Amino acid sequence: MKILIIGAGGQLGSELTTALRNIYGQENVIATDVRQLDGIVEGPSEILDATDKSRLYELVKKHQIDTIYHLAAILSAKGEQNPNIAWDINMSTLLNVLDLAKESSLKQVYWPSSIAVFGPDTPKDNTPQKTVMSPTTVYGISKLAGERWCHYYFHKYGVDVRSLRYPGLIGYKAKPGGGTTDYAVDIFYKAVGGESYDCFLKPDAQLPMMYMDDAIRGTIELMQADASKISIRASYNITAMSFTPQEIYEEVKQYFPDFTMSYSPDFRQQIADSWPGSIDDSIARADWGWKEQFHLPEMAKEIITNLKPVLG
Ligand code: NAD
Repeated sequence: MKILIIGAGGQLGSELTTALRNIYGQENVIATDVRQLDGIVEGPSEILDATDKSRLYELVKKHQIDTIYHLAAILSAKGEQNPNIAWDINMSTLLNVLDLAKESSLKQVYWPSSIAVFGPDTPKDNTPQKTVMSPTTVYGISKLAGERWCHYYFHKYGVDVRSLRYPGLIGYKAKPGGGTTDYAVDIFYKAVGGESYDCFLKPDAQLPMMYMDDAIRGTIELMQADASKISIRASYNITAMSFTPQEIYEEVKQYFPDFTMSYSPDFRQQIADSWPGSIDDSIARADWGWKEQFHLPEMAKEIITNLKPVLG
């Protein structure tokens, strides 16, 4: 197994790199990103702008890569600031990776999608795997197009590409990169640091979420599953919990009784309004045994326990 991770410096990539190295060995996992990885992830790394197809091909050849985790993307909130760039980066990097897989001996590709593929016309509660898809952000449009490309490359060219539609990912080890659910990470940094927090979503904006450890375990389990168990080649619905800003505030307040949170909803509230409140991930559970380990109370306890010695 020789793995290349694209976007290894991000919120997900930095933790996934460590997890994959623990399984497959430090030397067998090459971390790449458009930015320097020093101080973010240690171990073998390369600079790669994944829009540069020839550099991607060169690195795959140089390190005899057989599996790619392509995580680089411009996220929902950041994408709305510059839609053309977000579309270019999100689409061209995925097509570069899929083309490479088609043309070479790559065994597997992982590429994450998002709940951003859904839109205001999609049923909000327990959103099914197959339903109305009407994304309103450039990020969501690029993820939906990406899902269709993954489906296409699997059926047309036999590329073993696998994907999860992550909900909001919450971790404490790396700062988030400009998504609509970033508030659920920021709140912990503020509370543990003894500060108040001004939330950019409304108190009742319920969204599906997942603790980073579950996201990483789910990703690796999907990739390790027997191909015969993978019935979805676009992207699987997957979730762990759903909560509102008010609910996470109440959970955090149990640890920090003086912690206060105010609300100043901005453009991200509109994005949140267009997304599901909860997700039906029964196909992932039935196909390859997905099951979360963390709900809100366990997640809050784990994050606060780990952040306290650093910030408290
Ligand atoms: P992030 O913004 O934290 O990290 C993305 C990384 O990609 C950054 O390190 C960035 O430098 C790198 N990058 C950007 N452009 C690049 C390019 N052209 N070439 C190479 N690297 C480039 O994002 P994340 O939160 O780690 O998300 C990872 C993946 O998971 C993305 O595809 C995202 O859409 C998906 N996802 C994330 C969430 C979430 O809540 N974090 C939810 C759903 C889906």
